[in-house]
Amino acid sequence: MDTSKSSKLFAEAQKHLPGGVNSPVRAFKSVGRDPLYIKRAKGAHIFDVDGNEFVDYIGSWGPMILGHAHERVVEAIRETAIHGTSFGASCEKEIDLAKLIKKFVPSVEIVRMVNSGTEATMSAMRLARGFTGKNKIIKFEGCYHGHGDSFLIKAGSGVATLGLPDSPGVTQSTANDTLNARYNDIESVCRLIRQNIGEIAAVFIEPVGGNMGCVAADKEFLQKLRDICTSEKILLVFDEVMTGFRLAKGGAQEIYSITPDLTTFGKIIGGGLPVGAYGGRGDIMRMIAPSGAVYQAGTLSGNPLAMTAGFETLSIIEETPNFYARLEEKSAYLADGISDAARKLNLNYNLNRVGSMLTLFFTDQSVVDFDTAKLSDTKKFADYFNQMLESGIYLPPSQFEAWFVSIAHTKSDLDKTINATYEALQSSLS
Ligand SMILES: *Cc1c(COP(=O)(O)O)cnc(C)c1O
Repeated sequence: MDTSKSSKLFAEAQKHLPGGVNSPVRAFKSVGRDPLYIKRAKGAHIFDVDGNEFVDYIGSWGPMILGHAHERVVEAIRETAIHGTSFGASCEKEIDLAKLIKKFVPSVEIVRMVNSGTEATMSAMRLARGFTGKNKIIKFEGCYHGHGDSFLIKAGSGVATLGLPDSPGVTQSTANDTLNARYNDIESVCRLIRQNIGEIAAVFIEPVGGNMGCVAADKEFLQKLRDICTSEKILLVFDEVMTGFRLAKGGAQEIYSITPDLTTFGKIIGGGLPVGAYGGRGDIMRMIAPSGAVYQAGTLSGNPLAMTAGFETLSIIEETPNFYARLEEKSAYLADGISDAARKLNLNYNLNRVGSMLTLFFTDQSVVDFDTAKLSDTKKFADYFNQMLESGIYLPPSQFEAWFVSIAHTKSDLDKTINATYEALQSSLS
């Protein structure tokens, strides 16, 4: 495969951007090659500057659940752009999108739009502190909640991929207010609460982990977490930036039937444009300025282009019959095919899947938290990744990321992926 144009661009980019990129995982460092420069994308396929075509399982890290460049979404963005791209004033589409979010996610009574998942979680944390009058938060090892200072303590995702410890630049006093529990281990949560009585404002969790690879939460664990938060007057915040509108209309909270106090959104909610949101109980959300005293603002928040892309994306999901059932069918077909391919070769790798999020972990241990995820053979993963890329399959360039299936993936895309997996795994044995 010729990727010389991409490599040339990457060499140039390194003179101007830190590490040549604007987000670390894009650098392909952990898989030992230069990143590809993408020229265009359509449906489930992306095309690089050298003219190579790939079946895409990154989907912009989650947003492209309809596939790339969906005609209706593109047309709506074009139509909106003609009349101005930003007013710094209210526009009708922000009401339309808010109503749709509330309809999809009944725990959301009031919602504030922001510009990224990071902003959503940072703002939800400030609100939780303002509402409870307490300072500390509990999060889980391997969960990623964006790059806000307080969350960069044992965070998964890019930090895990690059093997970075806590980031320099995060002060000790900030780190002191972040407590880390073990995913799926309720006793680890209880211990932290006992050691910090009356000090914990909120528990933040990815209700299905997607940033240490795909790791499902145990239903009983989440239910106990809900109960403890209620009895200790701690706010339960579901970070559904990844799972929101992906696992079901109502996200992970719908499939687990557990109601958080606050929810954060991103990714799909912007339909490929930069949007985040946080919402939840009305009594809490009304503390946000200007209805309350907790300050949070944004020059581009509720931007008409972004609201249009999000609204159109969610509307298409709503209007498509059996949308999530069809996505489930595709995802199960892919996961079963990949598991079978490994089994035929006597490789007991663990494939975790929840809905259209999945990860093939290169370990024979079942992966239930960050420690077990880290048992994976990342060298074997890197070889697999590179072979798949050569076969025209574009996977997340890290063992600790989820793959995303979109409604645009066809049976032939999935079969191609399964066959390429068999070949890649087979050649890893020789
Ligand atoms: C992607 C992600 C974020 C951060 O969102 P950005 O838009 O990248 O800032 C936060 N939480 C979770 C669970 C995510 O997957």
